[in-house]
Amino acid sequence: MEPFRLGVSDAVDLLRRGGISAAELLEALFRRIDAVEPVVRAFVTVTRDEASARLGELESSGEGPHQALHAIPLAVKDNICTAGVKTTCSSRILRNFVPPYESTVTARLLREGYILLGKTNLDEFAMGSSTENSGFFPTRNPWDPERVPGGSSGGSAAAVAADECLAALGSDTGGSIRQPASFCGVVGLKPTYGRVSRYGLVAFASSLDQIGPITKSVRDAALLLNVISGHDPLDSTSAPVDRQDFTRSLDRGVKGLRIGVPKEYFVEGLDREVEQAVRDAIGELERLGAEVSEVSLPHTGYAVATYYILATSEASSNLARYDGVKYGFRAEGADLIEMYMETRAEGFGPEVKRRIMLGTYALSAGYYEAYYRKAQQVRTLIKEDFERAFERVDLIVTPTTPTPAFRLGEKVSDPLQMYLSDIFTISVNLAGVPGISIPCGFSTEGLPIGMQLIGRHFDEETLLRAAHAYEAATGWHGRRPVL
Ligand code: GLN
Repeated sequence: MEPFRLGVSDAVDLLRRGGISAAELLEALFRRIDAVEPVVRAFVTVTRDEASARLGELESSGEGPHQALHAIPLAVKDNICTAGVKTTCSSRILRNFVPPYESTVTARLLREGYILLGKTNLDEFAMGSSTENSGFFPTRNPWDPERVPGGSSGGSAAAVAADECLAALGSDTGGSIRQPASFCGVVGLKPTYGRVSRYGLVAFASSLDQIGPITKSVRDAALLLNVISGHDPLDSTSAPVDRQDFTRSLDRGVKGLRIGVPKEYFVEGLDREVEQAVRDAIGELERLGAEVSEVSLPHTGYAVATYYILATSEASSNLARYDGVKYGFRAEGADLIEMYMETRAEGFGPEVKRRIMLGTYALSAGYYEAYYRKAQQVRTLIKEDFERAFERVDLIVTPTTPTPAFRLGEKVSDPLQMYLSDIFTISVNLAGVPGISIPCGFSTEGLPIGMQLIGRHFDEETLLRAAHAYEAATGWHGRRPVL
């Protein structure tokens, strides 16, 4: 097998056994990036020189045997701060921003010996579902370059699917890890809110944002979660839970697990092939010993509206900091106010401006009660839906997205259509529970289909165990696009 096709766990083993050298692996990935980037365009920045220097450092460190990810080349979404390496959020306003500090997740990856290959493209400030909102260029789906890779972590998902890295980090506010993973035929895990530190993640909607891995297998997702999770005093929302080894229980199977299928997720608008693939997958879980039953999440119909009020409100507040003074781009103006206005007018793209306006409106005096406060109340109802369901079942299974990857340009002029495509992923963020998307089949057009598993708060262990059992029994994750 060509080395760039490796996943993280296999590469770790191969490196340890001496089956490949760290230099060969790194070189193979850069050759792969050179070969496929003209089509895929997953990266905003490729850190070739930094990676070579890092390799030298690692080789002379003698740390190899103690590091979980020694010399493992990974990509990182470009809204996660990497000290000394540009972090743009795919926004013109941050196009030259070089963070002076490292995010906690990448600091932990560094401690375990990873090599950064580059920073991946996203919808500007992670706002979008197709990566077409990038302020620089759209990324393409490796399975069909006329299609979007999903978003907002489209660069990370495409890079993993195209074998341009062994795995990547993404962020997920309303589906941005799971939806692109589903569109690109790879695994994407959004951990429980609070499981992974967001220190150094550029904030979009702080009550929803979470960092997680995008990988070629469930085992790799567990391995990366081991490294990036755990309490962090630098993030006040990071939960004081002990670290654990999520790879240990992967092989326990699903016998006796109670799996719920929410009836509100199998409704009109769901593509027939997606529905069939997910129903077949549920049948497979049943054959493997799970007990399947129907559950209800009755407030699902309000999730899109609730999310788009809360996420935009938080974004309007978080993005106030880009004023031409503290970070990045600055336009000239006759006075201070004009400088602010010009900087923001030129620096932000249309979707970001739309969200700032929507959020500012929802928070403004007189509308706050009708919109923001009401949305907070509905959020509680959505969270309670999950709590009630989890009294009866251990896991919930749904499609990740209503359709396979759509065409570039298909939804850009209709933001509402774009928002509606997030219907199956956003409730998970509103409730704060963990969710994973894993490949479960292909459409007749050859596009990947993803299944979402949702677990209880801090029960990634059960989530990963069931996902692994399904993956091991079916092997959809092993297919790769021809590029
Ligand atoms: N697509 C959703 C949005 O546009 C989710 C984005 C995300 O998870 N970052 O807000």
